[in-house]
Amino acid sequence: MMNRLEKYFELKQSPTKNIQAMYVWIDGRQQLRSKTKTLNFQPKSISELPTWTTDGHSTYLTEINSEIYLLPIRMYNDPFRGDNNRLIFCETLLEDFSRTKSNTRHSCNLVMDMVAKQHEPWFSIEQEYSLLDGNDRNKPLGWPTGGFPGPQGPYYCGVGTNRVFGRDIVEAHYRACMYAGVKIAGENAEVMPSQWKFQIGPCPGILIGDDLWMARFLLHRIAEDFHVSVTFDPKSIPGDWNGAGAHTNFSTKAMREKGGMAVIESACKKLEKNHAKHIVKYDPNGGADRSASVRIPRQVADDGYGYLEDRRPSSNMDPYVVCEQLVRTICLNE
Ligand code: ADP
Ligand code: MN
Repeated sequence: MMNRLEKYFELKQSPTKNIQAMYVWIDGRQQLRSKTKTLNFQPKSISELPTWTTDGHSTYLTEINSEIYLLPIRMYNDPFRGDNNRLIFCETLLEDFSRTKSNTRHSCNLVMDMVAKQHEPWFSIEQEYSLLDGNDRNKPLGWPTGGFPGPQGPYYCGVGTNRVFGRDIVEAHYRACMYAGVKIAGENAEVMPSQWKFQIGPCPGILIGDDLWMARFLLHRIAEDFHVSVTFDPKSIPGDWNGAGAHTNFSTKAMREKGGMAVIESACKKLEKNHAKHIVKYDPNGGADRSASVRIPRQVADDGYGYLEDRRPSSNMDPYVVCEQLVRTICLNE
């Protein structure tokens, strides 16, 4: 795969006249889309990037045939094309410049701006996912055809052949995130064979959503090179196999300071009171883990300050929705 492309990537590219800008956006079914345009200048900031358009109907963003706007909101280094090429993460807007239904970033951003100065919210998300056979999406990567691997036990943080599957993809993804400028914090193999997790954060405010979506994009795109598919489905394999979540760690300035434990405990009480609301917001289709709860991590209890961990969001959660709701309940007392 790599070898076929290599000679083309060695062709010289003008560092100022031929920049490839790959625009990336979220479609109406929370899947990622992308397309590329050439820029005849090196963009230094997001405001220099031209707004673009795409077909709303073909991306499930509109019911009827109409164009939508791609509004550049964050720029990343492009780990696939390298050099001066860039990935441009975009919000989607309708023809009248109102936001599309699936553009949940817009209101999240307003809420984050509202509380930024007083609370300085930080988020960190533990994204779990599974790798699936590129030819058979019912089969996790490396599982035997028509059968099952041995029961769960040896796989979590596992090492060795037949204990982990797809490590090349995980390694490639880690480096690609760092190169791109996505704030990846770590990775590990999970409980079900072929299930993995990476953490993004801690990120202030809206950046958590942007970086998590970009990390998801990078993972899909890298797995494509290996002819493997990625699923964020919270229950990809029926039966006695581990589901997948997206634990969301949250802190405010007061929680991170000495004596923060009292603030964390009061936040937990607010979350308890609003449990039903959070579950509905987190996943209107009912995928959030109702039985899971909010936890104070061991280290935080020992220190007496730090952050809380909301274990309810499922792996296919929308970080803009979850993080907006946490701030609304904890900081705005809604
Ligand atoms: P778990 O023990 O649940 O597996 P992880 O170690 O996977 O937890 O993830 C915990 C995450 O919390 C890490 O990514 C870490 O960067 C993040 N974190 C640490 N301090 C804070 C903080 N003050 N606010 C928000 N997130 C934080
Ligand atoms: Mn966790």
